[in-house]
Amino acid sequence: MHFNILTIFPEMFPGTLGGGVVGRALSGGIWSYDAINLRDFGIGNYKAVDDEQFGGGAGQVMLPEVIANALGSLKNPGKIIYFSPRGKLLSQKMAREFANAESSVTLLCGRYEGIDQRVIDEYGIEEISIGDYILSGGEIAAQVFIDSCIRLLDNVVGGGQQSVGQESFEIGGLEWPLYTRPSVWRGRNVPEVLLSGHHGNIERWRKSQSDEITKERRPDLLKSYKG
Ligand code: SAH
Repeated sequence: MHFNILTIFPEMFPGTLGGGVVGRALSGGIWSYDAINLRDFGIGNYKAVDDEQFGGGAGQVMLPEVIANALGSLKNPGKIIYFSPRGKLLSQKMAREFANAESSVTLLCGRYEGIDQRVIDEYGIEEISIGDYILSGGEIAAQVFIDSCIRLLDNVVGGGQQSVGQESFEIGGLEWPLYTRPSVWRGRNVPEVLLSGHHGNIERWRKSQSDEITKERRPDLLKSYKG
């Protein structure tokens, strides 16, 4: 999988994506990226990438021509995504769809108040949000998006597809409680069933814990999985 990342802060990449399993997959060639500096496509002597917004109001808007020129420089843009609080909320299902279907994706990281609407319309850009809060820029959102896709590719996470398929959201709800050694810690015991070696009982216990936690914390997930 290849990502073209359009940003005024290319030095922010790979950032968190350089560590752990995703970082290993990057050096192993399972995925790659180009961080393209929008400033290189800036306009005039000062290489401007933004201007004041029409209609007044605080905050600058990114210039459409700068983004268009950067997009025009790409050999294989693939699907173009703009990270924005107005976008469709990123989900595990979306990450899986991208990981399965897309080999090249272009990620546009906004700054200031965002980008000129016409560039979104002109290129049919898809908008994705990573949650109902405001970030200072799309770079963290891009890293969240890339991480969520890459860990689903083959040979990235230890334990493979079985391991990534057993996580919250993939199992129709939230994960059950996890325990490791020692079996007694500060007087607290690991649930007996997990030490029993009885796989059927362990699976039933995990399923019932997962159902209970999901019902209590995220009943919306149960509804959406039934519907
Ligand atoms: N004026 C915008 C917020 C701009 S924040 C509004 O009110 O909706 C600046 C940039 O950060 C955005 O262009 C976007 O690329 C990024 N960003 C901020 N919050 C985000 C979120 N929740 N999800 C994805 N990207 C976000």
